[in-house]
Amino acid sequence: MRIVLLGPPGSGKGTQAKLLTEELKVPHISTGELLRAAVAAGTELGLQVKEIMASGQLVSDDLVLGILEDRLSQPDAQAGFLLDGYPRNLAQAKALDGLLERMQMPVEEAIEIAVDNEQIIQRIAKRAEQEGRSDDTEEVIRRRLEIYTEQTAPVSDHYQQRGILSQVYGVGSIEEVFGRIKGVLVQAAS
Ligand code: AMP
Repeated sequence: MRIVLLGPPGSGKGTQAKLLTEELKVPHISTGELLRAAVAAGTELGLQVKEIMASGQLVSDDLVLGILEDRLSQPDAQAGFLLDGYPRNLAQAKALDGLLERMQMPVEEAIEIAVDNEQIIQRIAKRAEQEGRSDDTEEVIRRRLEIYTEQTAPVSDHYQQRGILSQVYGVGSIEEVFGRIKGVLVQAAS
C-alpha cells in the first residue's frame, strides 16, 4: 500500500508512521529523517540544508524531490511505502503525482492527523528536552506551524479532490490514534 501521512509537526505523525510501517510491512520514508541523515553525514546536500532546517524553513522543493526520488527508487519501496513529511506544499504534491505516475505507483491513501496548535506546542517542548533537536525551540515551532497552515493545508485539499483523503483525530493515547488510522485503512480497503 502507498500512503501519504499528513499532519503538523508534533502531531504524532512520526510515532504513528513507525507503528504503521510495522503493521503494513512497507518502508517509512521521512524526508526530514533523510535530510537530518545528510546533515549528520556532512554530505554536500547536508551542508546546503543545515541552516535552513535549523531555522525551521522549508528546504527547496528541488533538493527534497531529488533525495525522495533516490529513496523511492530503492527496491524496498516497490512493494509500497509510507511517506512522512512530504508533500509539504501544493507544488510538492503535484511533483509527487508526476514522479509516482512515471514510476507507475500512485498514492492510494492520504491520512491526515489533526491536532490543535496549543497541544502541539506543549508536545514539542517535551520532545525538545528529550531529543535536543535544534529546530524545536518555541519560536521555531510557531514558525513551523504557520508554514504548515499556509503551505501544507492546501495539500489536504489536493488529496480531498482526488477522493483519497481521510482525517483522523490525533488527540488520545498512541494506541487510540493508531486504532483510528487502522479503521481508516480497513475502510479504504473495502
Ligand atoms: P520533519 O522531520 O518532517 O519535521 O522535517 C524537519 C525539517 O526538514 C523541516 O522543518 C524542513 O526544514 C525539512 N524538510 C523535511 N521535509 C521537507 C519537505 N518535504 N520540503 C521541504 N523541507 C522539508
